[in-house]
Amino acid sequence: MGSVTPLSDKDRIFTNVYGYQSADLKAAQARGDWDKTADLMKIGQDQIIEIIKASGLRGRGGAGFPTGLKWSFMPREPKPGKPNFLVINADESEPGSCKDREILRHDPHKLVEGALIAGFAMRARAGYIYVRGEFIRETQALEKAVAEAYSAGLLGKNAAGSGYDFDLFVHRGAGAYICGEETAMLESLEGKQGKPRLKPPFPAGAGLYGCPTTVNNVESIAVVPTILRRGAAWFAGFGREKNEGTKLFQISGHVNKPCVVEESMSISFRELIDIHAGGIRGGWDNLLAVIPGGSSVPLVPAAQIMDAPMDFDGLKELGSGLGTAAVIVMDKSTDIVRAISRISYFYKHESCGQCTPCREGTGWMWRTMERLREGDATSATIDRLLDVTKQVEGHTICALGDAAAWPIQGLIRHFRPELERRIAERGNETLEAAE
Ligand code: NAD
Ligand code: SF4
Repeated sequence: MGSVTPLSDKDRIFTNVYGYQSADLKAAQARGDWDKTADLMKIGQDQIIEIIKASGLRGRGGAGFPTGLKWSFMPREPKPGKPNFLVINADESEPGSCKDREILRHDPHKLVEGALIAGFAMRARAGYIYVRGEFIRETQALEKAVAEAYSAGLLGKNAAGSGYDFDLFVHRGAGAYICGEETAMLESLEGKQGKPRLKPPFPAGAGLYGCPTTVNNVESIAVVPTILRRGAAWFAGFGREKNEGTKLFQISGHVNKPCVVEESMSISFRELIDIHAGGIRGGWDNLLAVIPGGSSVPLVPAAQIMDAPMDFDGLKELGSGLGTAAVIVMDKSTDIVRAISRISYFYKHESCGQCTPCREGTGWMWRTMERLREGDATSATIDRLLDVTKQVEGHTICALGDAAAWPIQGLIRHFRPELERRIAERGNETLEAAE
């Protein structure tokens, strides 16, 4: 595509993403955080929501739901005994994703200030940041930032001199991937086992302790103060229609320089890799496939992704998705069947076991993937596996079932000849009649 201008340094929101400067309050203030926050809040609660809507910001946790619209679902006049809550999802666990980690480590005040403003806009009395259990240093950095904010009068009573009272709590998870699913997170915050709830009701209707709640990703909240300072039109000026803004991309795998980088949405895959990741290991001819949005989206073969716009709609058109923008690059040395089988194992391991298609299906799909990896199968096995993925997809309580099904569907769609080759090599044609 190539029509999107790469981001210049002056347009980066996360100016300390590599931690070259201190993460403490003083350094954050020198970078522009907490600058006249009370004046931003004077814009007014409904007007802030309108600005976020106009900015085009879509949820950065993977699903891409419009953030301002989600905020507008919260009651404007909370009922007595039913306060509104903000919950921030810092349970970053999607294989390939590592952007929220950098924000927590190096730019936590952007998140803390964003929490106050977002909480205020949604009339939330308090916010909870649920941090992935394995993020020990990140939790410490965040707790330090929250303590600094309290000491400086930026949180608590009359937060930042705004006249609004807002408390912010940090809660560490215990290492379960499923607690990143928003309703499992609410259960976990309530002290129960992290098992997803049926939706609807969505959290804005019945969330934490049955109260109206909005769950937002770390990046979605951390960009809010800058959007208010620089304007909705500024943010919406990046990317393309319905895919606006800047985005943290996390590039891993077979590139010369893996990195986390903030770029304009809709930049082409080729530019993203050439400008920031030093190109593909062994050159562009060596690219096999890419998982563009974290392990739960289907892979895209090299030829299709080269010039694709890296945004929600561009990757959806390719049968994949932007997800968390965790770009996993695989060159021709990759055993692609093994890679997808490993992802299958991950979902089997992380299934909470609550619903049958996921509990039974993820294990069956992984075992079948392992057989296909060895070629110990027939063509009929591939068809049956595809059929089972479709029976799991859309038939479970939460998106983990879909996430387990989609990578396998992508593999069969694009690499069926490789699966067939392994079967033929193993010489299992005779089994075919028996299956
Ligand atoms: P979802 O589409 O069900 O919901 C997205 C958000 O929009 C939720 O907050 C939901 O409450 C809200 N929403 C959706 N429809 C609504 C409606 N009709 N009314 C009110 N609110 C509504 O997706 P999800 O299950 O929350 O998330 C799935 C995504 O999570 C996947 O695409 C994956 O990329 C991503 N993911 C991310 C991580 C990570 O580490 N960041 C881990 C696992 C999965
Ligand atoms: Fe649990 Fe899987 Fe059902 Fe989600 S889909 S609720 S992880 S069993």
